[in-house]
Amino acid sequence: MKKIFSPLLLIALTILIILLTSCGKTVTNAQASSAKNVTATTAPTVISTPTPTLTPIPTPVPTPTPLPLNRPGAKVKVPILYYHRVNDVIEGLEDLHVKPAEFERQMQYLKDNGYTTITFDDIDNTEYIQKPVIITFDDGYEDNYTYAYPILKKFGFKATVFLVANFVGNPSILNKDEIKEMSDLVNFQSHTLSHPDLRALKPEEAEREISESKTKLEAITGKSINVFAYPVGYYNNSVLVQVKKYYKFAVLNGGGMFTTGDSLYEMKRLYIPRYLDIQGFEKKTKTLE
Ligand SMILES: [Zn+2]
Repeated sequence: MKKIFSPLLLIALTILIILLTSCGKTVTNAQASSAKNVTATTAPTVISTPTPTLTPIPTPVPTPTPLPLNRPGAKVKVPILYYHRVNDVIEGLEDLHVKPAEFERQMQYLKDNGYTTITFDDIDNTEYIQKPVIITFDDGYEDNYTYAYPILKKFGFKATVFLVANFVGNPSILNKDEIKEMSDLVNFQSHTLSHPDLRALKPEEAEREISESKTKLEAITGKSINVFAYPVGYYNNSVLVQVKKYYKFAVLNGGGMFTTGDSLYEMKRLYIPRYLDIQGFEKKTKTLE
């Protein structure tokens, strides 16, 4: 047999074995230090001999891995809120004007309930996003800048505004400077050139409304336009085919809760009328059964 153990090491190991069997199963740091004290009185030379078995094994630190918030592959409900105007002063259809104070209350509700405001491009990643919600405004009214934008800014919320390309800069409608200023939080998308009923147009006229609004708005915003809102929600199969040529998403004028896996060219939205109280808002947006 090879002499691989020095006598000192043998003594140390023997003491160790005795200590280990008398102390129980686990050697804690406290036990380890008391063991050192004991050995110090009986065999002082042992202290300087490092005994690897006494070295505390470092507890491995778990590496955090990003876990999907929603079950992978599961369908995720994404409320797409549908507004027009945020204003106390009524111009035209009263129901389309949400009071600024009410809009702020609704945004506060979203914040207090852990919602994350996203844009359409985030739809593919919703399984990693906590309670995703999309805030949309149609027609690009100037009060979106005057009243809604400061509230969005207060909460750091993202929103999407569907612009009618030929109306930009008209009275009561957003102008280019306002669009530019809002673009830190607001994503601008297309709502045609002139807001027609696309079903009533000749196919080439409809296609012009769909395609030219995209290029015109891309020139105004300097960003890619890939979401389309059908004016008044009107479309037919031929319109749908044309929209698919130029856009990645298209939204309807209502219909309820959007769920991932639904058609991306007939995306349902939740209409928020003027006289919807916060309980009604909660009921509409609730994604958990
Ligand atoms: Zn519209």
